[in-house]
Formats: sequence, C-alpha cells, structure tokens
Amino acid sequence: MPVFDGCDISASRDVIDDPMDPAHNHPMRETFKGSFTQQEPIPEEGIAAALAVMQHGRLHRYNTAPGEVAEAALLEEEFAAQVGAKYCLAVASGGVAMTTALRACGVGPGDAVLTNAFTLAPVPGAIAAVGATPIFVEVTQDLTIDLHDLAAKIGQARVLLLSHMRGHICDMEALMRLCDGAGVTVIEDCAHTMGAAWNGTPSGRFGKFGCYSTQTYKHVNSGEGGFAVSDDAEAMARAIVLSGSYMLYDRHRAGPPPEAYAQVKYETPNISGRMDNLRAAILRPQLRALPEQAARWNARYRVMEAGLRDRPGLRLIQRPAAEAFVASSFQFVLPDWSAEAVQDVLARCLDRGVELKWFGAAEPKGFTSRYDSWRYAPSAPLPQTDRLLAGLVDMRLPLTFSLEDCELIARIIRAEVGAVWQARAQAAE
Ligand SMILES: *Cc1c(COP(=O)(O)O)cnc(C)c1O
Repeated sequence: MPVFDGCDISASRDVIDDPMDPAHNHPMRETFKGSFTQQEPIPEEGIAAALAVMQHGRLHRYNTAPGEVAEAALLEEEFAAQVGAKYCLAVASGGVAMTTALRACGVGPGDAVLTNAFTLAPVPGAIAAVGATPIFVEVTQDLTIDLHDLAAKIGQARVLLLSHMRGHICDMEALMRLCDGAGVTVIEDCAHTMGAAWNGTPSGRFGKFGCYSTQTYKHVNSGEGGFAVSDDAEAMARAIVLSGSYMLYDRHRAGPPPEAYAQVKYETPNISGRMDNLRAAILRPQLRALPEQAARWNARYRVMEAGLRDRPGLRLIQRPAAEAFVASSFQFVLPDWSAEAVQDVLARCLDRGVELKWFGAAEPKGFTSRYDSWRYAPSAPLPQTDRLLAGLVDMRLPLTFSLEDCELIARIIRAEVGAVWQARAQAAE
C-alpha cells in the first residue's frame, strides 16, 4: 500500500482529485522526483562484450581476424531470427534504415510517398533525404493511420512509409489489402514497435521492409543505430550495397545469396551508414532481453491506464486485442479542450515533476513537432488530425520508473486534469 505523509494515498485519491479540497494546494502535495529521460544502464553482458571489442580494436564491421564473425553480422542474424525475416541489415540509425529502404524500393527525386500525418520528424526527413515529397494521411482517434483517408489518397504514390507512431498499430490486414490492391509498396517504420506484433505477426513483417531504431529512447539502446529487415532478395541486396558495404557484401550472414548482387553491385551507390561492432556488441544481449523488457514496459503502461481510467474530460487510447504492443510511452487525449486549458494542465503537472509533451503547440519543441511545422514538405490542412493533435498529450515511460512511480504519476495527472476540468465547468456555469 503506498503511503505518503502518513496517510494511505490510494484511499485519499478522491480527496486529492477534488480541487476544492484545501489538501489540493497543500505544500506537502505529492510530487514526482524521477527523470523522464533516464534509461536503464547497459546490461553487464553488453558492457563486457563492448570491452572485448575495444580491447581487440576491430570496431569496423568488415575488420575481422581470420575465422572471426563480426558482432554486426551476428547481430543481424539474431535480429532476423527474432522477427522471422529472411534478411536483416544493421545500420547507423533508424533514419538510415528508412532512407536505405526507400532507395532500395526505387524511390527518388520527385516521387511522392504516402505517410502518416501523426509521426515524428525523422519520417518526413527520410522522405526528403531521397528527394521525394510526403503526402500526409489523417490519423484516427486511436492514433493510427486513417484507412479511409489512405484509400482516398492511395492513387497518388507508389510507396507508403507507414509509421507505427508511439507503438499504435492499425488494422494491418486491412492496410495490406488496400496497398496490395493498389500496387503500393509498404515500408514500415517500427521505431516504436520493436518486439510488437499484430495478430501474431511481428511488426515490420507486413511490408517489403521493416525499419527499426536502436537509438537511446527506443526499445534497445546503442546510442544510435537501426535495422532494416526484408524477405526480398534483390531489394535487400540493394540495401546492403547502399549501406556502404563496398564489395564485402558476402560478409553479411543475414543477406541474400551472391547471385542477388550480380547486377546490383554495379548499379547501386555506396552511401555509408553502417553499424559498427561496438554498438552491435552492446545490442545483442539487449535483444535477447527484449521479451522480458516488453512485459515490464507494458506493466507500467497498464498502471498508467488504470490510474487515469474514467476521469471525466480525459480520453484513453483504445488498444485492439490483435495488437501486442511494447509501450515505451503513454498517450491520452483532452478532447476539444482549449489550448490554454491544456497548457494549464501541463504547467501544473510539470510543477509536480511530471513532464508531459503536447502535440497541439503552435511551435515545434524538443523532440515534438507536427506535420505543419515541416515546411519543406507542403501539406494541405488535415482537419481530423488537427483536432486530435490539439488535445494529444504524450509522456515517456522509461523502465527506470517503478510501478509505484507510475501510480504516483497517474495520480498527479488525474488530479491536475480534474482541477482544470472543474474550474472550466464552473466558469461555464
Ligand atoms: C526515433 C524515430 C525514428 C528513427 O530515428 P533515429 O533517431 O534516426 O534512429 C523513426 N521514426 C520515429 C517515429 C521515431 O521516433
């Protein structure tokens, strides 16, 4: 039973929730002291493997002693097996995974690429990096790509870069039917869905490519890094040469057979974006621990969800039964709230140590930006997305938070949403 200031907090929730109660403004009210950006340390096994690589000094993935298999090549083999892909390529970032996949699918200057309007800057950035232009698709109330709007726009491009933004997965069978029917190639951005699945199929295994990030804030942490997986031999041969393999592509144990490179090796530019052995060494034990870590993340997510359920004025995101997610963040909506009221909630929460991000702000800030702030990519207004983002609140959920921390954070958010909600209701009377 959590205890605060000599009283049982769980029993006092209703009291704390009531802004009219003097305890609400009590100087001893609960605050959270943890850091929203603090991840767990690298596991001991990863530190030992990294030390071994530094001691032998062969950090470049193609620098191997006779008979040695590079950590990067082993990492690719292991990740391919983990997601059930024929081929896997490890690269320098999730952004490189996406640009490499786009190029390997033949996307180039002047092409249009469909993508979610609700995503983060690296996604339209990858499209822009290959000289293409994004066409943004509306988002649903549950934060996934709107299949009706996608159907309306499907004829405008040959490729969809589908972002499973914040780990929310759309109806993948319906999406693939729509895209296959229109001859549109799907590339999945799985930066937030490593280890996740839809109806038992791992995220990243529906499209021609699945792209992942191993950057610090994602599900495994090598500082920077990424993967692209595929079952398509020719596309993967192109991706491997594109990533900067020179003529050493046969060192990729999770790559296609030599025939796949016969033409590709002459026609494909070498655009350096490789994974190195140091980061690969750090990642291998983390991949093995991913299922356990996923369970820990989801336990934290469920505590947040339970703590905010049935709070008038606050809407939770529905998670479909087919979706096996790996939560590393938490979202909720303050539907049709004024900008001032949302900002009031954020300020009050911050004052109590709870750092929330808001997708409704006019100016891009920190890691958070919106389709209309990417001015290199022209966009028509998307009314449904605008309305949703105006009330969308986002929070990191690092594994350094305990379940009790999550209970406390949920209590604080619940109380502050309640306070602002009731003040608005009274003002409206
Ligand atoms: C982090 C992220 C990526 C990839 O990012 P890198 O920092 O390049 O590894 C891609 N898509 C989304 C939605 C992301 O948040």
